[in-house]
Amino acid sequence: MAFNFSIIPKDNSKQALRLRRFFEALAIYILNISISYFAYWAGIMDLQALYGFWIIILAINIILYILFRTGLNLWMSDPSLTFIQMCAANLVVMYGIYYIYEIRGFLLSMYIVILLFGIFRLYTRQFLFVSAFALLTYGIDIFLLNIFHPQAINPKIESFQWFGIAIVLISVSLIGGKISSIRRELNVSRKKLQSSLTVIREMAIHDDLTGFYNRSHLMDLIESENNRSVRTGSIFSLVMMDIDKFKKINDTHGHQTGDQVLRTFAAVIRSILRKTDFCGRYGGEEFLIVLTQTDLQAAKLFAERIRDCVENSFFPDLGPDSRVTVSIGLAEHRTQEDIEKTISRADEFLYKAKKGGRNRVECSD
Ligand code: GH3
Ligand code: MG
Ligand code: MG
Repeated sequence: MAFNFSIIPKDNSKQALRLRRFFEALAIYILNISISYFAYWAGIMDLQALYGFWIIILAINIILYILFRTGLNLWMSDPSLTFIQMCAANLVVMYGIYYIYEIRGFLLSMYIVILLFGIFRLYTRQFLFVSAFALLTYGIDIFLLNIFHPQAINPKIESFQWFGIAIVLISVSLIGGKISSIRRELNVSRKKLQSSLTVIREMAIHDDLTGFYNRSHLMDLIESENNRSVRTGSIFSLVMMDIDKFKKINDTHGHQTGDQVLRTFAAVIRSILRKTDFCGRYGGEEFLIVLTQTDLQAAKLFAERIRDCVENSFFPDLGPDSRVTVSIGLAEHRTQEDIEKTISRADEFLYKAKKGGRNRVECSD
């Protein structure tokens, strides 16, 4: 079995993102490990406390990495484990504060760093919870120091510091909550914008009555089919269709019914169309189908099928005895031929089909 373990998973972008955030936090831990060694070197922290500090950091990060890498985090309500990571970091700071008595003030600023870690994610109440947790752990530190190392602290100064940090943490929590909510609102509007853009794109290339491509997009598609044909020498055919006596349908049944007939007609064509072909509304009740990699002979068979299918289809809006027919002109695209010319040849044959009595297919012999 091949060994293909990677530190950050390559096949899951969300998990990869979470792990990248975990490693960013780990980098901050490593900086704290370095500074703790400095504290030991400077005689502010003793060796035992130093090792304890490192072991706690190591243990927390190993557990977090296992949670992320095994996917256990996905079972939690917040798979990014932001909240848990923040609480764990608070415990590390609590430990540090207890042992680095003289420069405790520096570690208090780490509470801000911890809150900033959740700046884009947490709700205000979660920020406040983490802050409360920080104040609790800091309070426990003061309490324990007061009992076990009373010479190391001044209760009045510590109480003052506790209140000071409480004010700072509450303020940061409120600001953080606001930033998070702005980010969430931005996310919502970005998603809305994206889906509107998709709708607009679809509307820009489709005809909303029949659902077929509109004329301008159809011409773009024909152009790229033409380019492909120049490149690869592939052939394609054009099927120009026009519903017979459509004006009469409008005059007899009304414009609305005419629209409905166009919809039903489109559904009939769609049911016959191959996946590789495409159809566009060329004009009012005139449609153009592009049959890719299809020569005139095959196009003829296809056009006959369309003609027959339309003639035998039931158009519910016109009543049981009414029939709708279509006339079709065909042209096979000749290599290097100007596409406009192919279209006008198909158009000429359509005209011929109309002249020849309608409900028929015409093409060059
Ligand atoms: P022919 O057999 O010669 O094609 O006869 P025709 O009556 O179908 O020919 P013509 O092209 O003169 O008429 C087409 C009619 O289609 C005219 C126009 O009012 C109508 N039409 C075009 N677009 C729409 C549409 O979107 N909805 C409806 N209901 N009618 C449309
Ligand atoms: Mg017509
Ligand atoms: Mg017409």
